[in-house]
Amino acid sequence: MSVSLTVFCGSNRGVGEAYAEAAAELGAEIARRGIDLVYGGGRVGLMGLVADAALAAGGRVTGVIPQHLVDAEVAHGGLTELVVTASMHERKARMIAGSSGFVVLPGGFGTFEEALEVVTWNQLGLVAAPVVCLDVDAFFVPLVQQVGRAVQAGFVRAEHARLLTIVGTARAAVDAALAPPPPLVPKWIEP
Ligand code: AMP
Repeated sequence: MSVSLTVFCGSNRGVGEAYAEAAAELGAEIARRGIDLVYGGGRVGLMGLVADAALAAGGRVTGVIPQHLVDAEVAHGGLTELVVTASMHERKARMIAGSSGFVVLPGGFGTFEEALEVVTWNQLGLVAAPVVCLDVDAFFVPLVQQVGRAVQAGFVRAEHARLLTIVGTARAAVDAALAPPPPLVPKWIEP
């Protein structure tokens, strides 16, 4: 059976070239290693760049996109497979099911929401797969600080803060996303 990684990333490309370069490196790295890429199916922003780089390197790319975004004409037309879902919820379930791990590139609310949902599900034992942020220009530093704040304030266990891994290269991101799933630690701090 083939191994697949799901990538969450911005539907905008971000300011400057560093984000776009990281997206292209990640797509190419995934394809070169013979891993299937699953992502949100868009042709816009970093999403389109990850997919195009993986396809250019000979990889298999599955996009999972809800009908309303197809109708808005942001679906990628050249993927190996495009799965069209009825809703955002169905789409996310399909992007999560069967994936060996998750790589997160910089993005906006959609990216945060997707990444934090998988972390949350890991915490509850509903998913067991690494979530790895590929950092560019210290983009994820404030997120790590926010999580640290939640640990200090007693809302997140220190072990659960480690469910979000931060790395600096595409190769390290793929390595970490393919690593064994994090051990399950009970979510609640108080009995
Ligand atoms: P954002 O970070 O807010 O740009 O949202 C990006 C994430 O939300 C992606 O990983 C997608 O799964 C989803 N998403 C948001 N906008 C689009 C779009 N135009 N086409 C496809 N997926 C999108």
